[in-house]
Amino acid sequence: MIRSDAEALVRKTMARFVDSELAPRAKEIDEAGEFPGEIFRRIGRMGVYGIRYPRDRGGSGGNTTLYCIICEELARGLMSVAAITAMQCLMGTNFLFHFGSPEMIEEYFLPAMRGEKVASFCLTEPEAGSDLGNVNTRAVPDGDGYRIDGMKTWVTNGPVADFFTVLCQTDPAKRLKGVNFFFIPRDTAGVSVSKPFDLLGTRTTKISELAFTDVRIPRRYMLGGEGQGMRNLMSILAEIRCMTAALAVGLQQAALNDSIRYAHERAQFGSTIGRYQMIQGKIADMATDLDASRLLTYRATRMIDEKISCIKEASMAKYFATEAACRAGDKVTRILGAYGYSMEYSAQRYYRDNRFLLYGGGTHEILRQNIARWAGL
Ligand SMILES: Cc1cc2nc3c(=O)[nH]c(=O)nc-3n(C[C@H](O)[C@H](O)[C@H](O)COP(=O)(O)OP(=O)(O)OC[C@H]3O[C@@H](n4cnc5c(N)ncnc54)[C@H](O)[C@@H]3O)c2cc1C
Repeated sequence: MIRSDAEALVRKTMARFVDSELAPRAKEIDEAGEFPGEIFRRIGRMGVYGIRYPRDRGGSGGNTTLYCIICEELARGLMSVAAITAMQCLMGTNFLFHFGSPEMIEEYFLPAMRGEKVASFCLTEPEAGSDLGNVNTRAVPDGDGYRIDGMKTWVTNGPVADFFTVLCQTDPAKRLKGVNFFFIPRDTAGVSVSKPFDLLGTRTTKISELAFTDVRIPRRYMLGGEGQGMRNLMSILAEIRCMTAALAVGLQQAALNDSIRYAHERAQFGSTIGRYQMIQGKIADMATDLDASRLLTYRATRMIDEKISCIKEASMAKYFATEAACRAGDKVTRILGAYGYSMEYSAQRYYRDNRFLLYGGGTHEILRQNIARWAGL
């Protein structure tokens, strides 16, 4: 699977970080339920957040495959840290990087690359989940800038972010063709952030609502040309789906490792449970799911790196790997018996955290409809 020295180096570096610094503290971090600021900054100092951006513009000069290797390894340690990292590398900073002015790059993008500022991405609204044509946060021309009014919800990093990339409607009659991305710093007058949501999984990923009331921003804060929001979103959609698939691969690897370890250790009826075919069957299914997920994921990331259109392949990867992660979360909690139900073991966390993967980047109901259409239906 490893195709280059860079891939081997990134995998080894991240694996070492996960094994020595993240995984041993995963339980403590998850239970604290706070944004892991110290780890966030540590990952920034490793140059991880710039992995998709060129070296001469503040990045680390990598590509989508390297980005997804990082996401996978971190998710093997703790899904919520992987999710925060994934957001910082891609959705939270991508449009700022491509369309921000030199001053915005200096003041926000470069500090974000160093882990000194937290980014977030705001599409979803109370009435606009899968159906982004319903986005109702309005951006209205106002003097030499825009006035923003509306509400966003399910904003990952909302409670801690320093700036938001926000999808707004500038021409409601045009629905999807009237949406645009805007850059809104957190300290802008009229921005308010709700209390963090109480979540089932990824409990250190802080998520909230945002309200924009009479928020005034300069014209240069529109990220991308007028009416280009959907087009710009589509330009990273395959990458978002690959990233989610890579997170699912990491979770499956962690669940499989724990399952094998436990099956070797636990003895019942005079034999370790790994000698029983019913347990072997589960492990075989998990290992096969994991391999298939990894193959689908990195087929798609390599297509992105080679600039080959791959929305179908990325959608299949996201759909398959995430469903496989849900199966892995189920199997590991069964293999551990009662201990799979205990908060002392990581199995329960894999069971809860896999749900995080189901919604962003397209729900599976919608992905399956698309895949059926691409298959010729
Ligand atoms: C942990 C987490 C983090 C998130 N982070 C962010 C974030 O940072 N930024 C952000 O903008 N959003 C974020 N979201 C929101 C996420 O993007 C939405 O949940 C997603 O877009 C789906 O929208 P919805 O939840 O409103 O579901 P809905 O769109 O209301 O769908 C509800 C159900 O109906 C199904 N459905 C909807 N339309 C169709 C259709 N046409 N055909 C068949 N079935 C359909 C769906 O598949 C789903 O099962 C996050 C969500 C979660 C859970």
